[in-house]
Amino acid sequence: RQARYAALKDVEPFTKDGERITLMINAGLRDDVPMLNLTGADGIGLFRTEFQFLVSAALPQRDRQTRLYRDVLEAAGEKPVVFRTVDVGGDKSLPYLRGDESGEADENPAMGWRALRLALEREGLMKAQARALLEASGGKTLNVMFPMVSEPWEFDAAKAVFDNQLAFLRERRKLLPEAIRYGVMLEVPALAEVLDVLAPKISFLSIGTNDLTQFLFAADRSNPKLAERYDWLNPSILRFIRRVVRGLAGQQIDITVCGEMGGRQLEALALIGIGLRRLSITPASIGPHKAMFRKIDTRELSEVVNRWIDEPVSDLRGALAEWADARDI
Ligand code: PEP
Ligand code: MG
Repeated sequence: RQARYAALKDVEPFTKDGERITLMINAGLRDDVPMLNLTGADGIGLFRTEFQFLVSAALPQRDRQTRLYRDVLEAAGEKPVVFRTVDVGGDKSLPYLRGDESGEADENPAMGWRALRLALEREGLMKAQARALLEASGGKTLNVMFPMVSEPWEFDAAKAVFDNQLAFLRERRKLLPEAIRYGVMLEVPALAEVLDVLAPKISFLSIGTNDLTQFLFAADRSNPKLAERYDWLNPSILRFIRRVVRGLAGQQIDITVCGEMGGRQLEALALIGIGLRRLSITPASIGPHKAMFRKIDTRELSEVVNRWIDEPVSDLRGALAEWADARDI
């Protein structure tokens, strides 16, 4: 099996009807980058910059951040890397970053003071990361995205930090990025209602189904008692994502799913069925997904998946599994 997937390394993921599926990997360490060439993925769709913060005993200095981002870009070569600004706080809490002046921990950390909410209030942290990303991308394209955006002004505030740092570097005649593409994570459901406001400002959107699911179902993603309860193959999630995809159709915005859901076989089929063409997944799923997509016709898939979620079948997972079996997937 492994050998068969390795043989697909240089094969592009086209479906039977000629649709090109973009398959990227999720990463967080410098050592993850070689997986790009080992799997033949199209790029890094989610680079979780908080990993460096989580493994450090103190806040990583700006030059250490710059070095990491530069190394990652260098190792990725021509392939694009999407850097996500730090998603710390909440359950990924940093002992050296206690900002809660009351001294009390968040009661609901996933819905608490985390990610961009924290970064926008810790201006020094955000500025240093923006400068590090801009400097590391000198002469290249910088793809940057912000986690846990809930309202459009949060995107504006985060982008303003980058604009200021860019002006600073320009004044000092530093080598600037050739292009900067901004994007947001869609993981807070409220943002979906105002995507039209955000759309003109962004180049891409990445749907974080790990957080999105827990917020849609009000079900803590880290609570084992709920782990089995809400299936990703659920009409609520799929209709939600489909509405987002349809709402942005025709605009020049790349839409990717970067949550764990996209790395699973039947879930990936469902996502392609509702119109997605870009997935950022665990490297181990790239080979199996390539093999799978070569066996499908997206028009056929889209017809059944849309029907099964419009008039929900009682067992969507079973129905999809049967569909896949019939195609030797
Ligand atoms: C997500 O929420 O789906 C996501 C990709 O981000 P993380 O898992 O890092 O919260
Ligand atoms: Mg998330």
